Amino acid sequence: MSRSKILIVEDEQEIADLEKDYLELSDFDVHIETNGDDGLREALDGDYALVILDLMLPGTDGFDICKEIRDSKDVPIIIVSAKKDDIDKIRGLGLGADDYLTKPFSPSELVARVKAHMARYERLVGSGTKANDIVEIRGLKIDKTARRVYINGEEKNFTTKEFDLLTFLAENPNHVFTKDELFRKIWGMESIGDIATVTVHIKKIREKVEADSSNPQYIETIWGVGYRFKI
Ligand code: CA
Repeated sequence: MSRSKILIVEDEQEIADLEKDYLELSDFDVHIETNGDDGLREALDGDYALVILDLMLPGTDGFDICKEIRDSKDVPIIIVSAKKDDIDKIRGLGLGADDYLTKPFSPSELVARVKAHMARYERLVGSGTKANDIVEIRGLKIDKTARRVYINGEEKNFTTKEFDLLTFLAENPNHVFTKDELFRKIWGMESIGDIATVTVHIKKIREKVEADSSNPQYIETIWGVGYRFKI
């Protein structure tokens, strides 16, 4: 069984290292980012089972990171902060953190909470009622279970492949995919067709989700490369 990956976003290296040591002793794989911008990118692009997030960070602060992660993922987030006030604030803002610890905290307490949240999350995901059957990004809502798409609350009709393509891009935001990669991913190797199929489908998706197809807010064209879903 592969080890669960945990992301620590913490600018105080000593604290990050201490957390990492304890988590590694409990058999977790740990990755540290020491500034907010890299931390946010890593949280969105990486495949983490849990995020430990400091609030006061250089670059994007922990409040914004928490909100951005929650807009697209339901990975458990544990906030650690030196200020009790900040924790009250983040709770008050309803940013969707799963737990809070005030510094200084005992590393074994952190590990215990990490394990508890992971177990809870795995039960949730395994039970079939997982919250991430819904992908929500700004005004776009994709209900994966019902295979329905809503823009600002209004349902739009999607063909199977349009739905699969949009969902795949939305679940991998900020990642640039070539048309070739998308064709192989959505249509499969055995399919008849070519990358022009991808272009046609992107055009149809944009007509449904974009207010202005010539200035897309969701799926961006990266000229000469392919497409990416903007976060
Ligand atoms: Ca800090």
